[in-house]
Amino acid sequence: MRFLKRDGNGHAVPPALAGRTIWMPRLTEAGSRAVAAVFRSCGFDARVTPPSDALTSELGARYTNGDECYPIKVTLGDFLKVLKAPGADPGKIAFFMASGQGPCRFGQYVPYMRGELASLGYPDVPVFGPTFENGYSDLGASSGKLIRGAWRAVVATDILMKLLLKTRPYEISPGDADAAHEESLAGLCRAFEVDYRDQAAQMQELRRCLERAAARFRHVPVRRDEPRPHIGIVGEIFCRLNTFSNEELVRRLEAAGAEVWMNDISEWLWYTNDESLRLLDLAGKRFSRQALGARIRARFQKGDEDQLLAVVRDDLVGYEEPEIGEVFENARPYLPPEGASGEMVVNVGKAVYFAHKGLDGMIDISPFTCMNGIVCEAIYPLLSRDLGGFPIRNFYFDGTQSDLERDIGIFLELTRNYRRRKTLREAQAAVSGDENGNGAGKNGG
Ligand code: SF4
Repeated sequence: MRFLKRDGNGHAVPPALAGRTIWMPRLTEAGSRAVAAVFRSCGFDARVTPPSDALTSELGARYTNGDECYPIKVTLGDFLKVLKAPGADPGKIAFFMASGQGPCRFGQYVPYMRGELASLGYPDVPVFGPTFENGYSDLGASSGKLIRGAWRAVVATDILMKLLLKTRPYEISPGDADAAHEESLAGLCRAFEVDYRDQAAQMQELRRCLERAAARFRHVPVRRDEPRPHIGIVGEIFCRLNTFSNEELVRRLEAAGAEVWMNDISEWLWYTNDESLRLLDLAGKRFSRQALGARIRARFQKGDEDQLLAVVRDDLVGYEEPEIGEVFENARPYLPPEGASGEMVVNVGKAVYFAHKGLDGMIDISPFTCMNGIVCEAIYPLLSRDLGGFPIRNFYFDGTQSDLERDIGIFLELTRNYRRRKTLREAQAAVSGDENGNGAGKNGG
Protein backbone atom coordinates (compact mmCIF):
# COMPACT_ATOMS: atom_id res chain seq x y z
CA MET A 1 0.00 0.00 0.00
CA ARG A 2 3.07 2.19 -0.22
CA PHE A 3 1.70 4.02 -3.27
CA LEU A 4 -1.70 4.80 -1.87
CA LYS A 5 -3.09 7.53 0.32
CA ARG A 6 -5.79 6.78 2.84
CA ASP A 7 -8.91 8.73 3.68
CA GLY A 8 -10.20 9.20 7.20
CA ASN A 9 -11.78 5.72 7.21
CA GLY A 10 -8.64 3.94 6.16
CA HIS A 11 -9.70 3.41 2.52
CA ALA A 12 -6.91 3.34 -0.03
CA VAL A 13 -7.35 6.02 -2.69
CA PRO A 14 -4.90 6.34 -5.62
CA PRO A 15 -2.73 9.46 -5.13
CA ALA A 16 -3.91 11.06 -8.39
CA LEU A 17 -7.45 11.08 -7.00
CA ALA A 18 -6.79 11.83 -3.34
CA GLY A 19 -8.45 15.06 -2.20
CA ARG A 20 -10.43 15.33 -5.43
CA THR A 21 -14.14 15.00 -6.13
CA ILE A 22 -14.76 12.50 -8.92
CA TRP A 23 -17.52 13.69 -11.26
CA MET A 24 -19.38 11.07 -13.26
CA PRO A 25 -21.32 11.65 -16.47
CA ARG A 26 -25.05 10.87 -16.47
CA LEU A 27 -25.17 7.73 -18.53
CA THR A 28 -28.43 6.92 -16.93
CA GLU A 29 -28.98 9.29 -14.07
CA ALA A 30 -29.96 6.36 -11.85
CA GLY A 31 -27.00 4.18 -12.80
CA SER A 32 -24.52 7.02 -12.31
CA ARG A 33 -25.98 7.96 -8.91
CA ALA A 34 -25.74 4.36 -7.73
CA VAL A 35 -22.18 3.89 -9.03
CA ALA A 36 -21.14 7.17 -7.38
CA ALA A 37 -22.52 5.79 -4.11
CA VAL A 38 -20.38 2.66 -4.57
CA PHE A 39 -17.31 4.86 -5.02
CA ARG A 40 -18.18 6.75 -1.84
CA SER A 41 -18.35 3.46 0.06
CA CYS A 42 -14.69 2.94 -0.90
CA GLY A 43 -13.52 6.33 0.30
CA PHE A 44 -13.80 8.34 -2.91
CA ASP A 45 -15.73 11.59 -2.97
CA ALA A 46 -17.85 10.85 -6.05
CA ARG A 47 -20.77 12.79 -7.49
CA VAL A 48 -22.81 12.92 -10.68
CA THR A 49 -22.45 15.97 -12.94
CA PRO A 50 -25.35 18.43 -12.66
CA PRO A 51 -28.19 18.03 -15.17
CA SER A 52 -27.27 18.96 -18.74
CA ASP A 53 -28.80 22.17 -20.07
CA ALA A 54 -28.33 24.95 -22.62
CA LEU A 55 -24.93 25.80 -21.13
CA THR A 56 -23.85 22.19 -21.68
CA SER A 57 -24.65 22.53 -25.38
CA GLU A 58 -23.02 25.94 -25.62
CA LEU A 59 -19.74 24.86 -23.99
CA GLY A 60 -19.69 21.52 -25.81
CA ALA A 61 -20.17 23.25 -29.17
CA ARG A 62 -17.65 26.00 -28.44
CA TYR A 63 -14.79 23.60 -27.77
CA THR A 64 -15.44 20.84 -30.32
CA ASN A 65 -15.05 21.12 -34.07
CA GLY A 66 -17.85 18.89 -35.33
CA ASP A 67 -15.79 15.76 -35.98
CA GLU A 68 -16.52 14.41 -32.52
CA CYS A 69 -19.45 12.19 -31.67
CA TYR A 70 -22.36 13.89 -29.93
CA PRO A 71 -21.82 12.05 -26.60
CA ILE A 72 -18.36 13.59 -26.25
CA LYS A 73 -19.78 17.04 -26.96
CA VAL A 74 -22.39 16.65 -24.21
CA THR A 75 -19.87 15.15 -21.77
CA LEU A 76 -17.28 17.86 -22.44
CA GLY A 77 -19.95 20.53 -21.94
CA ASP A 78 -20.97 18.99 -18.61
CA PHE A 79 -17.37 18.67 -17.42
CA LEU A 80 -16.61 22.28 -18.35
CA LYS A 81 -19.68 23.40 -16.43
CA VAL A 82 -18.18 21.76 -13.32
CA LEU A 83 -14.77 23.37 -13.93
CA LYS A 84 -16.22 26.82 -14.62
CA ALA A 85 -18.75 26.83 -11.77
CA PRO A 86 -18.25 29.74 -9.34
CA GLY A 87 -15.64 28.79 -6.74
CA ALA A 88 -14.58 25.58 -8.54
CA ASP A 89 -11.01 24.54 -7.77
CA PRO A 90 -9.48 22.42 -10.59
CA GLY A 91 -7.05 20.98 -8.02
CA LYS A 92 -10.00 19.27 -6.34
CA ILE A 93 -11.71 17.91 -9.43
CA ALA A 94 -11.35 14.63 -11.37
CA PHE A 95 -13.56 13.12 -14.05
CA PHE A 96 -14.63 9.53 -14.60
CA MET A 97 -15.42 8.25 -18.07
CA ALA A 98 -16.46 4.84 -19.30
CA SER A 99 -13.90 3.61 -21.76
CA GLY A 100 -12.75 0.61 -23.71
CA GLN A 101 -11.45 -0.52 -27.03
CA GLY A 102 -13.89 -0.42 -29.88
CA PRO A 103 -14.25 -0.28 -33.60
CA CYS A 104 -15.07 3.39 -33.60
CA ARG A 105 -14.28 6.60 -31.73
CA PHE A 106 -15.36 5.19 -28.36
CA GLY A 107 -11.81 4.10 -27.54
CA GLN A 108 -10.64 7.68 -28.08
CA TYR A 109 -12.93 9.33 -25.56
CA VAL A 110 -10.55 9.35 -22.60
CA PRO A 111 -7.37 10.50 -24.44
CA TYR A 112 -9.46 13.04 -26.34
CA MET A 113 -10.93 14.46 -23.15
CA ARG A 114 -7.51 14.65 -21.50
CA GLY A 115 -6.07 16.52 -24.49
CA GLU A 116 -9.02 18.86 -24.68
CA LEU A 117 -8.93 19.78 -20.99
CA ALA A 118 -5.16 20.30 -21.20
CA SER A 119 -5.55 22.66 -24.13
CA LEU A 120 -8.22 24.60 -22.23
CA GLY A 121 -5.89 25.20 -19.30
CA TYR A 122 -6.66 22.18 -17.11
CA PRO A 123 -3.67 19.88 -17.77
CA ASP A 124 -3.63 18.48 -14.23
CA VAL A 125 -7.28 17.53 -13.94
CA PRO A 126 -7.35 13.70 -14.07
CA VAL A 127 -9.72 12.00 -16.48
CA PHE A 128 -9.69 8.32 -15.74
CA GLY A 129 -11.34 5.46 -17.57
CA PRO A 130 -10.77 2.10 -15.94
CA THR A 131 -11.02 -0.71 -18.47
CA PHE A 132 -10.68 -4.44 -18.72
CA GLU A 133 -7.54 -3.86 -20.82
CA ASN A 134 -5.76 -1.78 -18.15
CA GLY A 135 -6.88 -4.15 -15.43
CA TYR A 136 -8.90 -1.33 -13.78
CA SER A 137 -5.57 -0.17 -12.37
CA ASP A 138 -6.78 3.47 -12.14
CA LEU A 139 -8.96 2.44 -9.22
CA GLY A 140 -6.18 1.43 -6.90
CA ALA A 141 -6.47 -1.10 -4.12
CA SER A 142 -10.28 -0.95 -3.97
CA SER A 143 -10.69 -2.00 -7.59
CA GLY A 144 -12.15 -5.45 -6.85
CA LYS A 145 -14.76 -4.05 -4.48
CA LEU A 146 -15.57 -1.15 -6.77
CA ILE A 147 -15.99 -3.29 -9.86
CA ARG A 148 -18.26 -5.74 -8.03
CA GLY A 149 -20.27 -2.96 -6.40
CA ALA A 150 -20.57 -1.04 -9.67
CA TRP A 151 -21.83 -4.17 -11.42
CA ARG A 152 -24.48 -4.66 -8.76
CA ALA A 153 -25.40 -0.98 -9.07
CA VAL A 154 -25.86 -1.38 -12.82
CA VAL A 155 -28.02 -4.50 -12.47
CA ALA A 156 -30.14 -3.03 -9.66
CA THR A 157 -30.78 0.25 -11.49
CA ASP A 158 -31.54 -1.63 -14.72
CA ILE A 159 -34.21 -3.48 -12.73
CA LEU A 160 -35.64 -0.20 -11.44
CA MET A 161 -35.76 1.11 -15.01
CA LYS A 162 -37.71 -1.96 -16.12
CA LEU A 163 -40.20 -1.56 -13.28
CA LEU A 164 -40.60 2.12 -14.16
CA LEU A 165 -41.08 1.61 -17.89
CA LYS A 166 -43.67 -1.14 -17.47
CA THR A 167 -45.66 0.94 -14.98
CA ARG A 168 -45.44 4.61 -15.99
CA PRO A 169 -47.45 4.46 -19.25
CA TYR A 170 -50.40 2.99 -17.36
CA GLU A 171 -50.38 5.09 -14.18
CA ILE A 172 -53.66 6.82 -13.38
CA SER A 173 -52.10 9.68 -11.52
CA PRO A 174 -49.16 11.26 -13.41
CA GLY A 175 -45.96 11.23 -11.39
CA ASP A 176 -46.71 8.18 -9.24
CA ALA A 177 -44.31 5.84 -11.09
CA ASP A 178 -41.53 8.42 -11.13
CA ALA A 179 -42.01 8.94 -7.40
CA ALA A 180 -41.80 5.17 -6.78
CA HIS A 181 -38.63 5.08 -8.86
CA GLU A 182 -37.01 8.01 -7.08
CA GLU A 183 -37.80 6.61 -3.64
CA SER A 184 -36.44 3.21 -4.65
CA LEU A 185 -33.31 4.69 -6.17
CA ALA A 186 -32.62 6.79 -3.08
CA GLY A 187 -32.91 3.61 -0.98
CA LEU A 188 -30.48 1.75 -3.24
CA CYS A 189 -27.98 4.62 -3.14
CA ARG A 190 -28.09 4.64 0.65
CA ALA A 191 -27.42 0.90 0.62
CA PHE A 192 -24.52 1.23 -1.83
CA GLU A 193 -22.91 3.94 0.28
CA VAL A 194 -22.35 1.55 3.18
CA ASP A 195 -18.97 -0.15 3.54
CA TYR A 196 -20.22 -3.70 4.30
CA ARG A 197 -18.18 -6.29 6.12
CA ASP A 198 -18.57 -8.65 3.15
CA GLN A 199 -20.26 -9.06 -0.23
CA ALA A 200 -23.03 -11.29 1.16
CA ALA A 201 -24.13 -8.58 3.60
CA GLN A 202 -24.36 -6.04 0.81
CA MET A 203 -26.33 -8.46 -1.37
CA GLN A 204 -28.81 -9.10 1.44
CA GLU A 205 -29.47 -5.38 1.83
CA LEU A 206 -29.77 -4.82 -1.94
CA ARG A 207 -32.32 -7.61 -2.21
CA ARG A 208 -34.33 -6.00 0.59
CA CYS A 209 -34.23 -2.67 -1.29
CA LEU A 210 -35.48 -4.33 -4.47
CA GLU A 211 -38.27 -6.09 -2.60
CA ARG A 212 -39.43 -2.72 -1.29
CA ALA A 213 -39.08 -1.20 -4.78
CA ALA A 214 -41.18 -3.93 -6.40
CA ALA A 215 -43.87 -3.44 -3.74
CA ARG A 216 -43.90 0.32 -4.37
CA PHE A 217 -44.45 -0.18 -8.09
CA ARG A 218 -47.15 -2.78 -7.44
CA HIS A 219 -49.02 -0.18 -5.43
CA VAL A 220 -49.03 2.44 -8.17
CA PRO A 221 -52.68 2.59 -9.37
CA VAL A 222 -52.75 1.74 -13.09
CA ARG A 223 -55.26 1.31 -15.89
CA ARG A 224 -54.36 -1.14 -18.64
CA ASP A 225 -57.57 -1.20 -20.68
CA GLU A 226 -56.02 0.53 -23.73
CA PRO A 227 -53.46 -1.61 -25.57
CA ARG A 228 -50.32 0.38 -26.31
CA PRO A 229 -47.70 -0.33 -28.98
CA HIS A 230 -44.73 -1.91 -27.21
CA ILE A 231 -41.51 -0.46 -28.61
CA GLY A 232 -38.00 -1.80 -28.07
CA ILE A 233 -35.16 0.70 -27.97
CA VAL A 234 -31.59 -0.07 -28.95
CA GLY A 235 -28.71 2.09 -30.10
CA GLU A 236 -25.58 3.88 -28.99
CA ILE A 237 -25.35 3.51 -25.26
CA PHE A 238 -24.88 7.13 -24.21
CA CYS A 239 -27.38 8.70 -26.57
CA ARG A 240 -29.91 5.98 -25.81
CA LEU A 241 -29.70 6.32 -22.04
CA ASN A 242 -28.85 9.98 -21.55
CA THR A 243 -32.24 11.69 -21.62
CA PHE A 244 -30.78 15.11 -22.48
CA SER A 245 -29.03 13.72 -25.58
CA ASN A 246 -32.12 11.94 -26.87
CA GLU A 247 -34.44 14.79 -25.97
CA GLU A 248 -36.51 12.64 -23.63
CA LEU A 249 -37.54 10.30 -26.43
CA VAL A 250 -38.91 7.71 -23.99
CA ARG A 251 -41.26 10.16 -22.29
CA ARG A 252 -42.34 11.49 -25.68
CA LEU A 253 -43.12 7.97 -26.87
CA GLU A 254 -45.11 7.30 -23.72
CA ALA A 255 -47.01 10.57 -24.12
CA ALA A 256 -47.83 9.53 -27.70
CA GLY A 257 -49.35 6.26 -26.47
CA ALA A 258 -46.49 3.72 -26.42
CA GLU A 259 -44.83 1.51 -23.84
CA VAL A 260 -41.05 1.27 -24.11
CA TRP A 261 -38.55 -1.55 -23.52
CA MET A 262 -35.11 0.01 -23.21
CA ASN A 263 -31.95 -2.02 -23.78
CA ASP A 264 -30.19 -1.81 -20.46
CA ILE A 265 -26.58 -1.19 -19.43
CA SER A 266 -25.86 -4.70 -18.18
CA GLU A 267 -26.38 -6.10 -21.66
CA TRP A 268 -23.54 -3.90 -22.94
CA LEU A 269 -21.29 -5.08 -20.12
CA TRP A 270 -22.04 -8.73 -20.97
CA TYR A 271 -21.17 -7.92 -24.54
CA THR A 272 -17.82 -6.30 -23.62
CA ASN A 273 -16.96 -9.21 -21.30
CA ASP A 274 -17.53 -11.66 -24.10
CA GLU A 275 -15.70 -9.54 -26.64
CA SER A 276 -12.65 -9.21 -24.35
CA LEU A 277 -12.47 -12.98 -23.96
CA ARG A 278 -12.80 -13.45 -27.70
CA LEU A 279 -9.93 -11.03 -28.34
CA LEU A 280 -7.74 -12.79 -25.77
CA ASP A 281 -8.53 -16.04 -27.53
CA LEU A 282 -7.50 -14.58 -30.86
CA ALA A 283 -4.26 -13.36 -29.29
CA GLY A 284 -3.50 -16.92 -28.13
CA LYS A 285 -4.15 -15.98 -24.49
CA ARG A 286 -7.08 -18.27 -23.79
CA PHE A 287 -5.37 -19.76 -20.75
CA SER A 288 -3.69 -16.56 -19.57
CA ARG A 289 -4.09 -15.10 -16.12
CA GLN A 290 -6.10 -12.24 -17.62
CA ALA A 291 -8.55 -14.65 -19.29
CA LEU A 292 -8.91 -16.69 -16.12
CA GLY A 293 -9.59 -13.51 -14.12
CA ALA A 294 -12.22 -12.43 -16.64
CA ARG A 295 -13.97 -15.80 -16.48
CA ILE A 296 -14.03 -15.78 -12.70
CA ARG A 297 -15.35 -12.22 -12.68
CA ALA A 298 -18.08 -13.16 -15.18
CA ARG A 299 -19.11 -16.06 -12.96
CA PHE A 300 -19.48 -13.77 -9.94
CA GLN A 301 -21.35 -11.24 -12.04
CA LYS A 302 -23.80 -13.87 -13.25
CA GLY A 303 -24.37 -15.04 -9.69
CA ASP A 304 -25.03 -11.47 -8.54
CA GLU A 305 -27.38 -10.79 -11.43
CA ASP A 306 -29.35 -13.97 -10.75
CA GLN A 307 -29.73 -13.13 -7.08
CA LEU A 308 -30.97 -9.60 -7.76
CA LEU A 309 -33.29 -10.61 -10.59
CA ALA A 310 -34.80 -13.40 -8.50
CA VAL A 311 -36.37 -10.77 -6.22
CA VAL A 312 -38.44 -9.27 -9.06
CA ARG A 313 -38.92 -12.35 -11.26
CA ASP A 314 -42.70 -12.41 -10.80
CA ASP A 315 -42.98 -8.67 -11.41
CA LEU A 316 -41.09 -8.89 -14.70
CA VAL A 317 -42.75 -11.88 -16.34
CA GLY A 318 -42.71 -11.20 -20.09
CA TYR A 319 -39.84 -8.75 -19.74
CA GLU A 320 -36.99 -11.29 -19.58
CA GLU A 321 -33.73 -10.33 -21.25
CA PRO A 322 -31.92 -12.87 -23.43
CA GLU A 323 -28.45 -14.20 -22.69
CA ILE A 324 -25.82 -12.42 -24.77
CA GLY A 325 -25.13 -15.68 -26.66
CA GLU A 326 -28.72 -15.69 -27.90
CA VAL A 327 -28.33 -12.11 -29.11
CA PHE A 328 -25.19 -13.12 -31.04
CA GLU A 329 -26.96 -16.05 -32.69
CA ASN A 330 -29.89 -13.82 -33.67
CA ALA A 331 -27.45 -11.37 -35.27
CA ARG A 332 -25.33 -14.00 -37.02
CA PRO A 333 -27.19 -14.17 -40.39
CA TYR A 334 -26.84 -10.39 -40.76
CA LEU A 335 -23.72 -9.46 -38.78
CA PRO A 336 -21.57 -12.38 -37.60
CA PRO A 337 -20.33 -11.44 -34.12
CA GLU A 338 -16.83 -12.65 -34.99
CA GLY A 339 -16.66 -10.28 -37.94
CA ALA A 340 -18.42 -7.21 -36.61
CA SER A 341 -17.87 -5.39 -33.38
CA GLY A 342 -19.71 -2.95 -31.17
CA GLU A 343 -23.33 -2.07 -30.52
CA MET A 344 -24.36 -2.92 -34.07
CA VAL A 345 -24.23 -6.65 -33.25
CA VAL A 346 -26.35 -6.20 -30.14
CA ASN A 347 -28.84 -3.94 -31.94
CA VAL A 348 -29.42 -6.38 -34.78
CA GLY A 349 -29.61 -9.41 -32.51
CA LYS A 350 -32.01 -7.60 -30.23
CA ALA A 351 -34.34 -6.65 -33.10
CA VAL A 352 -34.88 -10.35 -33.77
CA TYR A 353 -35.47 -10.98 -30.07
CA PHE A 354 -37.99 -8.13 -29.78
CA ALA A 355 -39.93 -9.30 -32.82
CA HIS A 356 -40.10 -12.87 -31.52
CA LYS A 357 -41.05 -11.61 -28.07
CA GLY A 358 -44.13 -9.97 -29.59
CA LEU A 359 -43.12 -6.31 -29.46
CA ASP A 360 -44.64 -4.01 -32.07
CA GLY A 361 -41.58 -2.14 -33.32
CA MET A 362 -38.06 -1.01 -32.54
CA ILE A 363 -36.25 2.32 -32.50
CA ASP A 364 -32.49 2.72 -32.82
CA ILE A 365 -31.24 5.87 -31.09
CA SER A 366 -27.83 7.01 -32.33
CA PRO A 367 -25.81 10.19 -32.46
CA PHE A 368 -25.68 11.79 -35.90
CA THR A 369 -22.84 10.16 -37.94
CA CYS A 370 -22.52 7.25 -35.48
CA MET A 371 -20.84 4.35 -37.22
CA ASN A 372 -22.98 1.76 -35.41
CA GLY A 373 -26.19 3.53 -36.32
CA ILE A 374 -25.21 3.84 -39.98
CA VAL A 375 -24.28 0.16 -40.34
CA CYS A 376 -27.51 -0.88 -38.63
CA GLU A 377 -29.60 1.40 -40.78
CA ALA A 378 -28.27 -0.39 -43.85
CA ILE A 379 -29.27 -3.77 -42.41
CA TYR A 380 -32.66 -2.94 -40.91
CA PRO A 381 -34.73 -3.07 -44.16
CA LEU A 382 -33.64 -6.67 -44.77
CA LEU A 383 -34.15 -7.54 -41.13
CA SER A 384 -37.60 -5.97 -41.07
CA ARG A 385 -38.60 -7.90 -44.20
CA ASP A 386 -37.39 -11.19 -42.69
CA LEU A 387 -39.37 -10.41 -39.54
CA GLY A 388 -42.68 -10.02 -41.36
CA GLY A 389 -42.55 -6.24 -41.68
CA PHE A 390 -41.49 -5.56 -38.08
CA PRO A 391 -41.19 -1.74 -38.01
CA ILE A 392 -37.67 -0.45 -37.26
CA ARG A 393 -36.60 3.17 -37.42
CA ASN A 394 -33.40 5.09 -36.72
CA PHE A 395 -33.59 8.33 -34.77
CA TYR A 396 -30.37 10.37 -34.97
CA PHE A 397 -29.54 13.10 -32.48
CA ASP A 398 -27.04 15.95 -32.52
CA GLY A 399 -28.87 18.55 -30.47
CA THR A 400 -30.68 20.04 -33.48
CA GLN A 401 -33.69 17.75 -33.80
CA SER A 402 -36.43 19.23 -35.95
CA ASP A 403 -39.86 17.63 -35.66
CA LEU A 404 -39.57 14.76 -33.25
CA GLU A 405 -43.31 14.63 -32.42
CA ARG A 406 -44.21 14.21 -36.08
CA ASP A 407 -41.65 11.42 -36.58
CA ILE A 408 -42.85 9.62 -33.45
CA GLY A 409 -46.47 9.90 -34.60
CA ILE A 410 -45.67 8.38 -38.01
CA PHE A 411 -43.64 5.57 -36.49
CA LEU A 412 -46.31 4.66 -33.94
CA GLU A 413 -48.90 4.51 -36.70
CA LEU A 414 -46.68 1.97 -38.49
CA THR A 415 -46.42 -0.08 -35.31
CA ARG A 416 -50.21 -0.05 -34.85
CA ASN A 417 -50.69 -1.28 -38.41
CA TYR A 418 -48.07 -3.99 -37.85
CA ARG A 419 -49.88 -5.03 -34.69
CA ARG A 420 -53.24 -5.24 -36.49
CA ARG A 421 -51.70 -7.37 -39.28
CA LYS A 422 -49.98 -9.59 -36.73
CA THR A 423 -53.20 -10.11 -34.77
CA LEU A 424 -55.05 -10.94 -37.98
CA ARG A 425 -52.38 -13.43 -39.06
CA GLU A 426 -52.47 -15.11 -35.67
CA ALA A 427 -56.28 -15.31 -35.75
CA GLN A 428 -56.21 -16.79 -39.26
CA ALA A 429 -53.56 -19.31 -38.24
CA ALA A 430 -55.66 -20.34 -35.24
CA VAL A 431 -58.79 -20.77 -37.39
CA SER A 432 -57.02 -22.80 -40.09
CA GLY A 433 -55.42 -24.88 -37.37
CA ASP A 434 -58.86 -25.67 -35.92
CA GLU A 435 -60.29 -26.47 -39.37
CA ASN A 436 -57.47 -28.89 -39.96
CA GLY A 437 -58.15 -30.42 -36.63
CA ASN A 438 -54.63 -30.01 -35.40
CA GLY A 439 -55.47 -27.41 -32.76
CA ALA A 440 -52.46 -25.22 -33.50
CA GLY A 441 -53.90 -22.37 -31.46
CA LYS A 442 -54.54 -24.48 -28.39
CA ASN A 443 -51.12 -26.00 -28.52
CA GLY A 444 -49.53 -22.60 -28.78
CA GLY A 445 -48.02 -23.61 -32.04
S1 SF4 B 1 -20.68 4.23 -31.02
FE1 SF4 B 1 -21.14 5.93 -32.41
S2 SF4 B 1 -21.25 7.70 -31.09
FE2 SF4 B 1 -20.22 6.12 -29.91
S3 SF4 B 1 -18.04 6.50 -30.31
FE3 SF4 B 1 -18.73 5.02 -31.82
S4 SF4 B 1 -19.28 6.23 -33.63
FE4 SF4 B 1 -19.19 7.60 -31.86
